[in-house]
Amino acid sequence: MKRLALLLGLLAPGCGDAKKPEPPRPAAFDGERAYGLLKELCLIGPRNHGSVEKEKAEAWIAERMKACGAEVSVHEFRHTAKTATGPSTFRNIVAKFRPGEARRVLVGTHYDTRSWADRDPDPANRMIPISGANDGGSGVAVMVALAEVFRSSPPPLGVDMIFFDGEDFGREGVWEDYFLGSRAWVRDHPDYRVEWGVILDMVGDAALKIRREGASMKHAPAVVDRVWAAARRADAKAFVEENQPEMMDDHRAFLEKGIPVILLIDFEYPFFHTDEDTPDKCSAGSLGQVGRTVLEAVRGQ
Ligand SMILES: [Zn+2]
Repeated sequence: MKRLALLLGLLAPGCGDAKKPEPPRPAAFDGERAYGLLKELCLIGPRNHGSVEKEKAEAWIAERMKACGAEVSVHEFRHTAKTATGPSTFRNIVAKFRPGEARRVLVGTHYDTRSWADRDPDPANRMIPISGANDGGSGVAVMVALAEVFRSSPPPLGVDMIFFDGEDFGREGVWEDYFLGSRAWVRDHPDYRVEWGVILDMVGDAALKIRREGASMKHAPAVVDRVWAAARRADAKAFVEENQPEMMDDHRAFLEKGIPVILLIDFEYPFFHTDEDTPDKCSAGSLGQVGRTVLEAVRGQ
């Protein structure tokens, strides 16, 4: 036995290919980490316009982006609400990964949360700001966790992460007071272009189901195909082969400029604009599926 083992040991190096060391695996997206970040963000409190909590959230986002190696800047703009007497100031937070790269993609979300839970079944709650775990929190959590992946495994091309302000600022029906950050961004940067992009909104629902959104299908079908193919590779079954009507959201400002940016949203969320939009309605599994898909879409260049 001993002799045979020795013989095999001697023969082994010559038998077949010598094993090459495996190349280091690129970092994976961690849904649990994203969910932890979501809870941390929501602990700050509602991040509605004019609140100290929103300012804290801005600092929280900017610090994390810098820690992940992004070039961070703030795009400040003013807007006068329809019923206001004067303008107020809003801030988009911009984090560029590999800022020197000419080829770029956009990953965006809004970080502001709604000032009124105006869809709450209890009328007493309708004047209080929402926690916005899913609506205003989930996209931020996915993007911060994605930035942490980029810290150790940089993307193959430039990535602009933009955290938009003033998305959920308008009173229902007053469309000119919604999507302020994305509209101001394209207005103030007329030459801004990316190869493609995604907007994440309400992507944390524990019962997540993301359908292909109408305006994205109409104006950026190749990006929809790219992302759904990435979802299949990432085994993200929340991305279903179904369509949903056109929605108003931060992607529209880009589509109007001919920049192919699609919307990822699950709008069938019973806690939409209520006091119940809290982290327990979201899940690590859902955030993980969205994060893995976006990462796969960015890497699959
Ligand atoms: Zn909202």
